[in-house]
Amino acid sequence: MSKITMKTPLVEMDGDEMTRILWKMIKDELLSPYIDLNTEYYDLGLKHRNETNDQVTVDSAEATKKYGVAVKCATITPNAARMTEYDLKEMWKSPNGTIRAMLDGTVFRAPIIVKGIEPCVKNWVKPITLARHAYGDVYKATEMKISGPGKAELVFTAEDGTETREEIFTFKGPGVIQGQHNREDSIESFARSCFKYALETKQDVWFATKDTISKKYDHTFKDIFAEIFEKEYKEQFEKAGITYFYTLIDDAVARVMKAEGGFIWACKNYDGDVMSDMVSSAFGSLAMMTSVLVSPQGYFEYEAAHGTVQRHYYKHLKGEETSTNSVATIFAWTGALRKRGELDGNKELSDFADKLERACIKTIEDGKMTKDLALITSIENPTVLNSENFIKAIRETFDNM
Ligand code: NAP
Ligand code: MG
Repeated sequence: MSKITMKTPLVEMDGDEMTRILWKMIKDELLSPYIDLNTEYYDLGLKHRNETNDQVTVDSAEATKKYGVAVKCATITPNAARMTEYDLKEMWKSPNGTIRAMLDGTVFRAPIIVKGIEPCVKNWVKPITLARHAYGDVYKATEMKISGPGKAELVFTAEDGTETREEIFTFKGPGVIQGQHNREDSIESFARSCFKYALETKQDVWFATKDTISKKYDHTFKDIFAEIFEKEYKEQFEKAGITYFYTLIDDAVARVMKAEGGFIWACKNYDGDVMSDMVSSAFGSLAMMTSVLVSPQGYFEYEAAHGTVQRHYYKHLKGEETSTNSVATIFAWTGALRKRGELDGNKELSDFADKLERACIKTIEDGKMTKDLALITSIENPTVLNSENFIKAIRETFDNM
């Protein structure tokens, strides 16, 4: 059988530790035998980021703007321990943060649904895709401890020197204050990324804030979403048969628990931080969460939601057997290959991606899985496979399909 060819290169961002090991196995076992892989390779492994003074991360983001689609392996975000472990010149910033800032993108996380790994919320039969606005609010806030009586004010000084003041509170004793901000252009990009991804995946968008209480701050988010939707996306949504739904955040939380899934839940920064952990843990396993960064211009970067699985890597280095789940990393590849296929009109490539995903799901549903899933599955007597044999089992399923 001849291999599938690719017209345009895919931007390939290699990474660190256990996921770097899986990365190679996935390419060798599941991709290269079937596809004449055409990728532009960037090594985002920490060693090479350090050697290039992190220029490689910037270059890989630029390449994503050029070609439109990237696939990324999990990478180490350095901390003090990594400084010594890798003898780093600097505590390089998170690659995901750098890439997200350069593409001005929003991250969408969705669980991979498999029979036998049931979500805790039994009515969630379809995935809930969570989109978190990753800029501003409490994450860029300025805070102050107030020692005693006095007046706290919000002051804005315009470029021409004009001041606008609002009293926050007149303290009679000690307390705390906090100043938050967001930018209209960032909220606009967030809204466009959400609407764009909804059209791509044919899913409704839910968005919620607390605009009844926060009549200027949160209301601005609501207004920007409504305006962009009306002007740029309403007609396309109608054609696609999907809807945009706005409600209050507490109402959204209540409705999500009763919903069956199958929609995108757009969240402000803090809500997204909290709710994504709730949604992903309720769906079962971090190893079964996919993640895609979508820019308002329509650039896509696919990856797994989990990290480099450091603990397993150290076992691997000691020559011990690991049972690390490669599904989310495989889905990063299939997501990127499918998108590349769609953009290039390469149906063979998109079909391959669909088939490989079905092979992953079928392998697990047939009872063959890694340890993390064996611990939570409702399938009786699952076969627990090591990292490599799980990938080989997927290949066998694929070849038999
Ligand atoms: P992690 O890699 O997500 O792993 C945490 C734990 O979750 C693992 O020890 C393992 O539990 C379980 N797990 C995660 N993925 C798994 C998989 N595919 N198969 C089986 N079990 C899995 O988080 P971490 O260990 O806290 O972080 C390691 C490194 O990843 C850090 O340097 C961090 O900076 C980086 N990171 C990168 C990204 C990214 O690039 N997107 C995201 C998050 C973290 P058990 O040990 O109990 O088996
Ligand atoms: Mg969090």
